[in-house]
Amino acid sequence: RDKATLSVAVRGYGEAMKLVLSQDITERERAETMRRDFVANVSHEIRTPLTVLAGFIETLRDLPLAEAERQRVLDLMAQQARRMDTLVGDLLTLAQLESSPPPPNDQWVPVARLLEVVETDARTLSAGRHELRVGAAGAAEVAGSETELLSALANLVSNAVRYTPPGGRVEVLWHARPDGAGELLVQDTGIGIAKEHLARLTERFYRVDGSRSRESGGTGLGLSIVKHVVQRHGGELQVHSEPGQGSRFCIVLPAWRVRGLQRPEG
Ligand code: ADP
Repeated sequence: RDKATLSVAVRGYGEAMKLVLSQDITERERAETMRRDFVANVSHEIRTPLTVLAGFIETLRDLPLAEAERQRVLDLMAQQARRMDTLVGDLLTLAQLESSPPPPNDQWVPVARLLEVVETDARTLSAGRHELRVGAAGAAEVAGSETELLSALANLVSNAVRYTPPGGRVEVLWHARPDGAGELLVQDTGIGIAKEHLARLTERFYRVDGSRSRESGGTGLGLSIVKHVVQRHGGELQVHSEPGQGSRFCIVLPAWRVRGLQRPEG
C-alpha cells in the first residue's frame, strides 16, 4: 500500500512539476513578449518626432521661406525636441523606479508640502483655464520618497488638466480613512474613460486616444510611473471614471505609512 501511495505521490509530484515548469515558461514568454513590445514602442515613439524634425530641417535647407514661416517651422521643431526630451525623461524615471532600492519607511513627508508643490504645478499647467481646488482634511505626514510621491501626483494632475476641457474642475484632496490608511485623490470633471480601457491604463504606452495624448504632450508612460511609485510604497492605485463626467484617481497608502502631524514640543 505504501508503495502504491508513493508511486501516486511521485506521479503527482511529476505532474505538478510539469505544471509549474509550463507555467514558468508561459510567464517567461509573456515577459519576453512584453520586453519586445516595449522596445518596439520606444523605437517608434522616438523615431516619430525624429522623422518630423528631419523633415523640418530639409524644409529649412531647401525652401526659401518668409521670416514668419521660418519662425513657425522653428517653433514646431522646438516642440518635437521637447517631446523627445519628455519621453526620455519618463523612460529614465521608469528605469530608476525599477532599479532603485525601495523608498524609505522612516522619512516623513508632510502632506501639506506635497500639496503645495502640486498646486503650483497645477496652476502652471492649467494657466487659468480650470477651477482648481487643493486641500487636506487634517494635517498628516506620509513615510516614503518625496520625489517619487511628487512625481506620481504631478503625473495625475497633468492628466487631469490635459483631459479636462477649459472651464472644468480639477481637485487634489487628502484625507485619512477611519482605518488609518491615507488617500490622495486627484479628480476632474473632464472627458472620462470608458470602462473597457480602465484595466489597461497603467500599461506602458497604453493610450485611449493616441492623437489627443500626443497633442497635449503625453508620453503614454505617466500612469505606468504612478503605478510603480504607488506599488513601491505598498499602496494601491484606484480609478473611477465615467465618460463625459470625469475621472477620479486615488492613491491609497497603507496605514503604517501615515501619521498625524506631530505638534512641536512645549
Ligand atoms: P498620457 O501621457 O497619454 O496621458 P498616461 O499613462 O498618463 O499617458 O495615461 C494613459 C491614458 O489614460 C491617456 O492616454 C488617457 O487616454 C487616459 N487618461 C489618463 N488620465 C486621464 C484623465 N484624468 N481623464 C481622461 N483620460 C485619462
